[in-house]
Amino acid sequence: MTDRGGDRGADDTGNEYRAVFPAGSPTFGSASSLRSRSGSSTAECRHCRRPVPVDPGYSPWCDRCGWNVQPVRERQKRSLHDRLNRALGPRSAKSLYDEVVRGRRLRPTLTLSSILAFVLASAVHGLTLSFVILAAVVLVGGGLSVLSVVAAAVCLGIAWLLRPRLPRLSEDDRVLSREQLPATFGLLDDIAASLKTRRIDGVVLDARFNAAFTQIGWRRRRIVFIGLPLLAVLEPQERVALLGHEVAHGANGDPRRTFLAGAAIDSLVTWYELLYPDELAPPEEGVVGLAALPANLMLLALAKLAYGTAYLVALLSWRESQRAEYLADHLAATVAGTPATIALFEKLHLTSTYERAVQGLAVNPDKDFVAEFQQRVAVVPDRERERMRRLARLEGARLDATHPPTPDRVGALRQHPPSIQLVTLSHSRSQQIDAELQSFRAAAQQRLADEATDTLYA
Ligand SMILES: [Zn+2]
Ligand SMILES: [Zn+2]
Repeated sequence: MTDRGGDRGADDTGNEYRAVFPAGSPTFGSASSLRSRSGSSTAECRHCRRPVPVDPGYSPWCDRCGWNVQPVRERQKRSLHDRLNRALGPRSAKSLYDEVVRGRRLRPTLTLSSILAFVLASAVHGLTLSFVILAAVVLVGGGLSVLSVVAAAVCLGIAWLLRPRLPRLSEDDRVLSREQLPATFGLLDDIAASLKTRRIDGVVLDARFNAAFTQIGWRRRRIVFIGLPLLAVLEPQERVALLGHEVAHGANGDPRRTFLAGAAIDSLVTWYELLYPDELAPPEEGVVGLAALPANLMLLALAKLAYGTAYLVALLSWRESQRAEYLADHLAATVAGTPATIALFEKLHLTSTYERAVQGLAVNPDKDFVAEFQQRVAVVPDRERERMRRLARLEGARLDATHPPTPDRVGALRQHPPSIQLVTLSHSRSQQIDAELQSFRAAAQQRLADEATDTLYA
């Protein structure tokens, strides 16, 4: 349920290219474990001191006071987009939720803020364009002298650096076509037809516990990323809900996914990364390093300006963008039914089980990872499932920075459940999807293993 593209930073199915991947693992150190005579373990609640049961391999939590329902997660290095989204999130999440539930306006519209965001985004692209115009003016005015050609080339070079950045796929993303995945596309096409939106152009399969949508290149081709482990543990209607939400991203009017604002934010983030000096005055370079100080200070100021502008564009479009997420959920429930959509939200909190499976992959790289993960999910203790249900309702719990908090998403659906269910996926069609995806598991697993190794030794 991450968004690639509109707001990329690093992974969500995240950001953005790589959308925001919930990171970290539960903490085990915070409860002292005692073994009772019966052999089952208990721990003491850190908050109310009552004994709580412990399932081996799962973090303990307290039913009474809610302690450790959301274990502290390790902080991963966050992308700029992720930091931006997290800073923006809580600001008006509550008031937007109230408005969505009471006012029932889900479709984003032009507000003063979003108009300002578009104006600012246009100014960003306008700056790029002005360097192209400047190059032309210099050439026309100065003739073809060496000086004017050099000056024009410099202007064009700057314009190239500033060019709008459109979401692109990474080298490892293999786009699969309708012919390669007839059953999967059959479902995607049914969903797109029900939502009266354009069909999906390509599917990228990976081994993440996530799914995402992005529009790539100048032709804005619609790509859905499907994490095979996630799909493998979903019931048929939950699959419809997952893909329904992603397909709805092409139809929900999210301002941050528009070419204008999305490309402006992506460009500004790239400028920030290009301009940000590693060190203001590298000490090992002595006097030369010191002489670089003024230039580096200027680069730092420009980098901060780019960051600030990206922040402002995102801030101005935040509210309508979050509203669009509620609309995507509503559309998902329209195709899949409300119970399946809520069940999906709960399952998306199986991240700690997924992370444990990924750790197991390092030890046993030859095992079928998706099958291994399915087995792990099948034996998740009831108590852990209950913890997930509570987590999904815990205030502030969110799957990633680009989406509203899960309890708000569940609450909005409960308040106004669509009374229809436009797409029904039969068990046999669902099995056809499994069968055609089977042969892509190994490649997805290999990529996940490579990425895990890369992070380990990065
Ligand atoms: Zn979404
Ligand atoms: Zn307690």
